[in-house]
Amino acid sequence: MLTNDRLAAWDRENFLHPSTAAGAHARGEGPQRIVTGGEGVYITDREGKRSLDGFAGLYCVNVGYGRMEVADAIAEQARKLAYYHAYAGHGSEPAIELAQMVLERAPDHMSKVYFGLSGSDANETNIKLIWYANNCAGRPEKKKIISRWRGYHGSGLMTGSLTGLHLFHNAFDLPLSPILHTDAPYYHRRADGTQTEAEFSAQCAASLEALILEQGPETVAAFIGEPILGTGGIVPPPEGYWAAIQAVLDKYDVMLIADEVVTGFGRLGSMFGSEHYGMKPDVITIAKGLTSAYAPLSGSILSERIFEMITRGTDDLGPLGHGWTYSAHPLCAAAGVANLKLIDSLGLVDNARETGAAWQAMLKSAFDGHPIVGEVRGEGLMAAVEFDADPETRTPFDAGEKVGARIAAAALERGLIARAMPQGDILGLAPPLCLTAVEAEEIVGIARAAVDSVAGELGRL
Ligand code: PMP
Repeated sequence: MLTNDRLAAWDRENFLHPSTAAGAHARGEGPQRIVTGGEGVYITDREGKRSLDGFAGLYCVNVGYGRMEVADAIAEQARKLAYYHAYAGHGSEPAIELAQMVLERAPDHMSKVYFGLSGSDANETNIKLIWYANNCAGRPEKKKIISRWRGYHGSGLMTGSLTGLHLFHNAFDLPLSPILHTDAPYYHRRADGTQTEAEFSAQCAASLEALILEQGPETVAAFIGEPILGTGGIVPPPEGYWAAIQAVLDKYDVMLIADEVVTGFGRLGSMFGSEHYGMKPDVITIAKGLTSAYAPLSGSILSERIFEMITRGTDDLGPLGHGWTYSAHPLCAAAGVANLKLIDSLGLVDNARETGAAWQAMLKSAFDGHPIVGEVRGEGLMAAVEFDADPETRTPFDAGEKVGARIAAAALERGLIARAMPQGDILGLAPPLCLTAVEAEEIVGIARAAVDSVAGELGRL
């Protein structure tokens, strides 16, 4: 049996962690936690500490931890057929069943699903397939992809370029061409304090239109956006935003990729965020909620229009030259089938809507008029509390104060995992979709205590 000390030492010596300060970790500084178990919305670590996971891992363990239905489905499939590929028309039973289940849930005009392993590789697939489709449709110059500052779409070369957060570009020589960025729909930080949400949305759409015109519409292939900004700060779209953006895209024949890696399968209280906000995507990216992270699986859901463009190419050029060994992996697909069945049988989309609405109201009232809270926002079971040095004038704290990170640490001490979002002083919350009313209250109570403790340290209470 490995001791805690031995594991902790090996972790510091051998393991280069994602999104972690590498040097500090190796020197034995900074956070370290070895997570060993989970049940419902709670996880336990090797020190025996139990915490309410207010971020569902990385907003992915939507059905909650310890679901034997999903574990058993994976085990059963592993015993029967652990792997077969999906190349050259091959398939496995769970992969075919899952594609059917995904399309039954997707908006009506969607036609096919291509499976990958991660949100990043799915967005990589989206770019490649859109380029391929445009080449096959005789418009090879239509290649540029526009994303938004504060968007998050992955951390590969192209998908890290789509991501509009400086941390993911700095010292990586990103973004690469032909990725362009436009304004974030971040109403709280608008420059003009007198603007209404609708005016701000119109301004975002006008900036997008100006960028498309400057580049030449014949060179712009697609626009990618999360229905609600996630890693960039959990920011729901301001009033009228998606309708205004959609009108610009339609005008210049620019495709819409709805990145629903976080919002797909219920997080906002609707099956898809596209439905929730009336978006009309040509491609939908799915991942996390597809398997609730019981196994890595992602997908690109394609409209009939793109599929038809792609078939023109493959009829001429031969098989689609794009695939991963693990595309549609049977174990992951089995997890997906069991997970989607569980979401239905437990009524988790309705729970995200109903418990979510009550939870959002509780959060708003808990922080109403708080001396360091600038905004509480969210939708369904996804929320953010943003901190300001002066909420009245929306003046942020000095980044050096690390207010967001200190509040997340104070929450963790009190048994709540919340995420300090990477850009700004923002506490992110996105618990599993099985959250109960009692657990919702527990999150709000601990979050309030954590904020008060840091506000006290800052002399602001
Ligand atoms: N798109 C969105 C909206 C995401 O939130 C994420 C991950 N947080 C990704 C893509 C990338 O997914 P992955 O980390 O699985 O590559």
